[in-house]
Amino acid sequence: MAILAVGSVALDAVETRAGSVDGVIGGSAVFFSAAASLLTEVRVVGVVGHDYPVAQLGFLRQRGVDFEGLVQVPGESFFWGGRYSDDFRTRVTTETRLGVFADFNPAVLPAYCDSRVVFLGNIDPDLQMKVLDQVRAPRLVAADTMNFWIERTPGPLRRVLARLDVLLVNDEEAVQLAGDDDLAGAVGRIQGLGPAVVVVKRAEAGSVVFGQNWAFECPAWPVANVIDPTGAGDAFAGGFLGYLDHAGSFDREALCQAAAYGSATGSYAVEAFSVDRFRALETSAVVRRARSLQELGGSSWTNL
Ligand code: AMP
Repeated sequence: MAILAVGSVALDAVETRAGSVDGVIGGSAVFFSAAASLLTEVRVVGVVGHDYPVAQLGFLRQRGVDFEGLVQVPGESFFWGGRYSDDFRTRVTTETRLGVFADFNPAVLPAYCDSRVVFLGNIDPDLQMKVLDQVRAPRLVAADTMNFWIERTPGPLRRVLARLDVLLVNDEEAVQLAGDDDLAGAVGRIQGLGPAVVVVKRAEAGSVVFGQNWAFECPAWPVANVIDPTGAGDAFAGGFLGYLDHAGSFDREALCQAAAYGSATGSYAVEAFSVDRFRALETSAVVRRARSLQELGGSSWTNL
């Protein structure tokens, strides 16, 4: 079993009250695979420029992440800069440069076309669609997006939504995407566009998995010393889908259990800059956090 993941493979510059970094590895596909690879196999599709420190992905390669589908071409890598408020609740994007992603035409290796789970990480929805079109018969297709694409590419994004089983978004993005102020209303509208399951991430308030007529709330793991929230959403997706792929089941029970794995991996992402916290992290630590959360929250859902 393995997850096919497409997304940004980026260089990030981040400022938080804990400090700042510039030119560190990041991007949705990198945070996702750092988390998911602790639970299952991951195959990455993406592109980097000549400036990318690919050796820094070595720890993920050692953990079994397959980067055969990551191509390196002349040009600059995707670059993102962001600054967080002191309470970490808001961030401003100071710069987004698509670089080599602007002309990327993703090719899924023949051996990957039978992937059972597909994760369309945050990137241009046209690229998400090109990857999805090459996969033969996936059993679960999940995607993430953000305000950048909701504002700039609403048409292509809608076409992707129509092909999804699961959409992962944060609460503000759900409201923005649906054009509805009320979260439950927004989720209903999004479900009407395609995905039967919508996972709403609410930072330190945890997450809610919305199914058809049911909802499940999972708390966040309380992190005492947040360093950098960047990538928490992608790491959540990695834990969530990594668990589902490992379990081989996508029913309601599994989706609720998976939320605790997402909370666990999301919490590790915020404890350091870039993917640093994942370097020496072991699966057992993730399982411990997830199980504590499951005990805390039980495993009950609410019928809507
Ligand atoms: P998150 O904090 O979960 O939203 O993820 C932040 C990561 O997403 C950073 O590492 C960025 O490199 C990457 N990112 C930021 N903006 C975009 C975008 N417009 N498209 C794709 N990836 C992005």
